[in-house]
Amino acid sequence: MSTQTEDSIEKVAGEVVLCTKCRLCRTRKHAVPGEGSTTARVVFVGEAPGEQEDNQGRPFVGAAGKLLTELIESLGLRRDDVYITNIVKCRPPNNRPPRKDEAQACRPYLERQIALIQPRVICPMGNSAIHELMKTEDSVTALHGIPFEVDSFTYFPLYHPAAALYTFSLKKVMEEDFRKLGALLNSLTGKAAT
Ligand code: SF4
Repeated sequence: MSTQTEDSIEKVAGEVVLCTKCRLCRTRKHAVPGEGSTTARVVFVGEAPGEQEDNQGRPFVGAAGKLLTELIESLGLRRDDVYITNIVKCRPPNNRPPRKDEAQACRPYLERQIALIQPRVICPMGNSAIHELMKTEDSVTALHGIPFEVDSFTYFPLYHPAAALYTFSLKKVMEEDFRKLGALLNSLTGKAAT
């Protein structure tokens, strides 16, 4: 039976939209807590909301989000079956990378989301998310498409979908990485589903 003190994805989202813990609250239109299944087997973590995400308060709704949705569907999943969020929940001005103190201020929200969802696999997308989550300075070029165990979590680093919009050859790399992700989910859960 739930109590008022129990944490929930909705509670995290409610706190995020009111959050003033870092300077990004002053320039955001909408905070973007994340969206998807609260029992997802896989959580995708990007760097930060962009302009369209800031306008709509939803993660990955622009061109990069369209590609991410296509890649998720290539796993035989719907976008609603996974959870999608970012390292920082508010858009940095002019899409600059999040600063260290901003990522640190926002980190507890992501940690609570992961603790609540308990995914089998966490996919950091792009260098910022990989460095923040996996405690490494290695680049996505070296790590993408390979599963790693860090602090009892299984990470599967990926390129950020926005990178594939600018470098066409990366789209093929991402498609191959998602095939490997599907196989990993199969091996962990017995099926490529939630
Ligand atoms: S980025 Fe995170 S810590 Fe900063 S104001 Fe937004 S929700 Fe709060």
